[in-house]
Amino acid sequence: MRLALFDLDGTLVDRTAAFADAIAGLCRDHRYGPDVEAWLLTRLADHADRSDFARLRAEFGLGESAEHLWRVYVDRMAAAVTCRPAVLHSLGLLKECGWSIGVATNGSSDIQRAKVRATGLADLVDGIAASGDIDVRKPDPRLFELAAARCGTQLTAGDWMTGDNPETDIAGGHRTGLRTIWVEGRLAWPEGLTVPHHRVTNVLDAIDHLLTHSPG
Ligand SMILES: [Mg+2]
Repeated sequence: MRLALFDLDGTLVDRTAAFADAIAGLCRDHRYGPDVEAWLLTRLADHADRSDFARLRAEFGLGESAEHLWRVYVDRMAAAVTCRPAVLHSLGLLKECGWSIGVATNGSSDIQRAKVRATGLADLVDGIAASGDIDVRKPDPRLFELAAARCGTQLTAGDWMTGDNPETDIAGGHRTGLRTIWVEGRLAWPEGLTVPHHRVTNVLDAIDHLLTHSPG
């Protein structure tokens, strides 16, 4: 059994497109003005957790509880986020070829799992490690190790990590002894960082590459 670990946001799912929709929806639901919307779009651009909504509430003197706002945000993000059918299909092929599929993601436990369920990835993923589970974030090897454990296995030399972030996904993967695939975006590879084993512009090509390294 080989293990393929994947990052979630920006790799398997499109967080960016979902994010603007979710924030617009949340603001519409509560009749919040453009100042609140702008604050959320800036402050939550990379990742969000409960404490952001406590700060929002304090900043704008909002009546709703931080817990309520966080729930609404989680539900709206889960509803808005998508995983392309072709990606789901390819992950299915990967499983058929004897791979275990794990997710190693920096994010809150509840929102990352809500996204995995809502996109249909839950049927294909063997285990998920979210940084919020143990308060350890990529590039720390312990998050990759937890993802392997959640898949019922341990990391070995033939295992791979695929992600869009050079530092957290690729450098972190290298530090953990994994082979790596970088899903490149608009930014160039940062100078001085050990280059990935393989680079692609589309996660589908990453999965194709893994298929050529299938066990047996
Ligand atoms: Mg990412």
